[in-house]
Amino acid sequence: MEKIKMTTPLVEMDGDEMTRILWQQIKDEVILPFVDLNTEYYDLGLVHREETKDQVTVDAANANKKYGVAVKCATITPNAQRVQEYNLTQMWKSPNGTIRAILDGTVFRAPVMVKGISPVVRTWQQPITIARHAFGDVYRAAEYRVPGAGKAELVFTGADGSVFRETINDFDGPGVLQGQFNKDSSIASFARSCFQFAVDTKQDLWFSTKDTISKKYDHTFKDIFQEIYDAEYKEKFEALGIEYFYTLIDDAVARVIRSKGGFIWACKNYDGDVMSDMVSTAFGSLAMMTSVLVSPDGNYEYEAAHGTVTRHYYKYLKGEETSTNPVATLFAWSGALRKRGELDGIDALARYADALEKATIDTIESGVMTGDLCGMWEGEAPARKVTSLEFLREIRARLEQALA
Ligand code: NAP
Ligand code: MG
Repeated sequence: MEKIKMTTPLVEMDGDEMTRILWQQIKDEVILPFVDLNTEYYDLGLVHREETKDQVTVDAANANKKYGVAVKCATITPNAQRVQEYNLTQMWKSPNGTIRAILDGTVFRAPVMVKGISPVVRTWQQPITIARHAFGDVYRAAEYRVPGAGKAELVFTGADGSVFRETINDFDGPGVLQGQFNKDSSIASFARSCFQFAVDTKQDLWFSTKDTISKKYDHTFKDIFQEIYDAEYKEKFEALGIEYFYTLIDDAVARVIRSKGGFIWACKNYDGDVMSDMVSTAFGSLAMMTSVLVSPDGNYEYEAAHGTVTRHYYKYLKGEETSTNPVATLFAWSGALRKRGELDGIDALARYADALEKATIDTIESGVMTGDLCGMWEGEAPARKVTSLEFLREIRARLEQALA
């Protein structure tokens, strides 16, 4: 079979531990036999981040901006223990944080669904994609532990010297105080990323905040979304027959539970942090959760939602063949290759990505799966637990048939 040619390089960001092992296995088993892979390779493994003083992460993010599409392996975010383990000169920042800051994007997370593993919520028939605004609010707040009686005020001094001042509370004893912020420019980027992703994936977009209580802060989010929708996206949505729908967060959570799925739910930073864990757990397994960072100017970075699966890696180092689930990492590759195919007008590449995903889902639906899924399995065929490599070879066999 002739391998599919690529015209523009895909930015490849390698990573750490068990996912680094899976990365190579995925390439060897289900990509390289079919695609004449053209990537610009960046090694974001912690050893190389240390060697380059983390410059490699910045270079990779800039390459993502240059070429438009990247695929990223999970990476270690160092803590004190990792500094010792890897003999680091610094506690390097989270690569995802660095990349997000350079691309200014929004993270979209969606589960891969298979027949035989049902969501906890019985009505959910299609994936729910959570879009989380990854900037500001409680994550960048100033906080103060109020020691005793006193007056707390909100003070803003304008660049022109004008002053705004409002009393927050007259404390009669100890308490707590917090100052949050966000920026119109970041909210607008968030809105554009969400509208664009809805258009790309042809799904309805829901957005929710607490604007009835937060009449200036949350209301600004609501207003900016509406302005951008009316000015830039209304016609596109109508042409595709999709809907933009704003509702109060309380109403949204009730509607999400009653829904059939199949839409994007845009959330403020904290709501998205909390709701993505709840929604992903209700759909099944972290190992089946995909993630893509979309910037407002149309750059894409695909990855798995989970980490480097350290516990499995230590078993692997002892010589054990592990049954680590490669699905989310594999879908990061198929997502990135499909997007590359779409942008470059290479139909064969997009069709290959579809076939790879279908072969993966068919493999699980036939009863062949990694250990994490066996406990959840309710399909007709008995579950057969296989190693990661056996699982990928099963997918490869189906893919060869499909593409023959
Ligand atoms: P994790 O790697 O997601 O793993 C947590 C647990 O979830 C695993 O021990 C495993 O449970 C299960 N799991 C996750 N992915 C799985 C898969 N593909 N197949 C089977 N089971 C899977 O999270 P963590 O242990 O908290 O973090 C490990 C490292 O990853 C840390 O250094 C962290 O900094 C990093 N991290 C990176 C990213 C990223 O790059 N995007 C995200 C999160 C964490 P069992 O052990 O019970 O089988
Ligand atoms: Mg969280």
